[in-house]
Amino acid sequence: MGIHIAVCVKRTPSSTTVAIGGDGKVQTAGLPHGINPFDEYAVEEAIRITEKLPGSKVTILSAGAAESEEVVKAALALGADEGVLLTDPAFDGSDTIATSRILAAAVEKLADVKLVLFGKQTNDGESGHMTALVGARMKRPSVVAVRKITAIDETSITVERMTEDGADTLKLALPAVVGVTKEINEPRLPSLKGKMKAKKAVVAKWSASDLALDPSSVGTAGSRTAVVTMEPVPARGSGLRIEGDSPEEQAKNLVAKLKEAKFI
Ligand SMILES: Cc1cc2nc3c(=O)[nH]c(=O)nc-3n(C[C@H](O)[C@H](O)[C@H](O)COP(=O)(O)OP(=O)(O)OC[C@H]3O[C@@H](n4cnc5c(N)ncnc54)[C@H](O)[C@@H]3O)c2cc1C
Repeated sequence: MGIHIAVCVKRTPSSTTVAIGGDGKVQTAGLPHGINPFDEYAVEEAIRITEKLPGSKVTILSAGAAESEEVVKAALALGADEGVLLTDPAFDGSDTIATSRILAAAVEKLADVKLVLFGKQTNDGESGHMTALVGARMKRPSVVAVRKITAIDETSITVERMTEDGADTLKLALPAVVGVTKEINEPRLPSLKGKMKAKKAVVAKWSASDLALDPSSVGTAGSRTAVVTMEPVPARGSGLRIEGDSPEEQAKNLVAKLKEAKFI
């Protein structure tokens, strides 16, 4: 029988060196982009579930501009079955609340999804909000920081959720929304056959009207937060070496320096 799994993937910069422009926003134009690295674990886990539960199917969802089709295809090359790009000028400027509205609407439109998988976070926005937001919006159980799926069938999933001290084991009724960590698996590389299949694949495109979303509920209009400005982290100073022949003398010199700097 199997289950229908949706995996949400985002196109993000592959570079860790980004500049902030005069408008106070991150300048990503011209940078190499790819699938958010954390999402590769979610795609891999979905494919492994299809291997365990024959008859299962994986649909990739990505909300973004036309270029995001690349990351849908990258996931198809890894072995996902179908992909949908959620794209509409009305989506521009969506904050995490508005983005979750778009993704939840797409999952609902797919109608028979039993499991929605996310990566832990993105390597650009890094909010880690999406799993919980989509779960809440769909009124389905959700769990983040999942390092292992210990059991899954057509009706439930049992997972290990990482905690500060170890892990909790949780059983969720399906449909459910799960955010996975990089501890969960070792993602495969795309095969040549997979790449050829992805190249030819037709990625469906859904707009706000396809998702029955009021344009005022998404994009800048539907967002409750605004990124006003961003600043680079100040470069770290060179540090100060505290001299002294003994620990006592070093401690004395440290106190003197702290007093000099008016810390004490
Ligand atoms: C006011 C405001 C305005 C913004 N304007 C823009 C803008 O104009 N253009 C822009 O590109 N970004 C914009 N953003 C950023 C955008 O809202 C976030 O990128 C998005 O909500 C996802 O958040 P995140 O990156 O923190 O994902 P996280 O919550 O850290 O990601 C968790 C999981 O959700 C998945 N996920 C996240 N986003 C998507 C997506 N779009 N499609 C599929 N899966 C996804 C990730 O891949 C990951 O698996 C804006 C944010 C704010 C607050």
